[in-house]
Amino acid sequence: MAEIMDGKSLSLKILDDIKEKTALLKKRPGLSVILIGNNPASSIYVKNKEKQALNAGFNSIVYKLPETASKGELLSLINNLNNDEDIDGILLQLPLPKHLNPYDFLDKIDPKKDVDGFHPVNAGKLLLNENPYAVPCTPKGIIRLLDEYKIQIEGKNAVIIGRSNIVGKPLSMLLLNKNATVTIAHSKTKNLSEIAKNADILISATGCADMVTKDIVKEGAAVIDVGIIRDENGKLRGDVDFNNVKDIAGFITPVPGGVGPMTIAMLMENTYKLHLLRNGL
Ligand code: NAD
Repeated sequence: MAEIMDGKSLSLKILDDIKEKTALLKKRPGLSVILIGNNPASSIYVKNKEKQALNAGFNSIVYKLPETASKGELLSLINNLNNDEDIDGILLQLPLPKHLNPYDFLDKIDPKKDVDGFHPVNAGKLLLNENPYAVPCTPKGIIRLLDEYKIQIEGKNAVIIGRSNIVGKPLSMLLLNKNATVTIAHSKTKNLSEIAKNADILISATGCADMVTKDIVKEGAAVIDVGIIRDENGKLRGDVDFNNVKDIAGFITPVPGGVGPMTIAMLMENTYKLHLLRNGL
């Protein structure tokens, strides 16, 4: 029976620590979140981010733009936030409405305020293993969970299913920088089950329910479930067939309560760190 990797309680510890350290600062860190349109999942995520930021003692400002917002409006808001001394972190909530391309905006955020770590400068620094100002929150949270449970990364086979710019690709760099042998699988991969079965650390980030079944998991592997899927009854679940995989894995993250809360904790940690950086602390 696998040990459950409790992202919820680890995230609370991290958030408490940030709150304590923030209370000692002269000035509050400032996090701004830009939400465009009415995507219901995005609205829930943004509310939660605001709540956690306030709880940590930050200033938290949510800018809501209508679904019809123009490219110019968004660029002008980003420019204002780049120049606002009280703002340390700027987060553009994705996905954007169809008429807006995220890559027209992500590279306009000041890299030193790029709290999500999606700016090409930060992506490049991550690729080069040269101290990005911020590292994408979900991959960073996964590494923190692996470290917390003392799961060895160096020399291990890590398989990531999913190659998105926000999860799979940056996570592959973090694992490589920690000396894992990394394989990225995706929707066009052949023999996925053979590849997955070779993983000491198996991470699934596809959004497909039951992507990871017991028969494709190596005995004793650490299985990290990034997927967030709402089933027909409105209940959250992940990519992994948790009930069966837990019998064979060595470690496993639940959904909810695994990677999700770690992502938010890392967002607060990134905001705090950017505040220190920008204030020379
Ligand atoms: P995405 O849609 O951008 O990418 C999905 C990836 O999965 C693609 O690379 C695709 O090639 C791969 N894929 C899809 N079907 C596959 C299949 N049958 N076999 C192999 N690979 C397949 O997704 P994303 O933005 O990276 O998000 C993935 C999931 O993770 C979603 O459920 C999302 O909600 C969730 N997510 C969770 C968190 C969190 O904090 N827990 C953060 C980000 C994303």
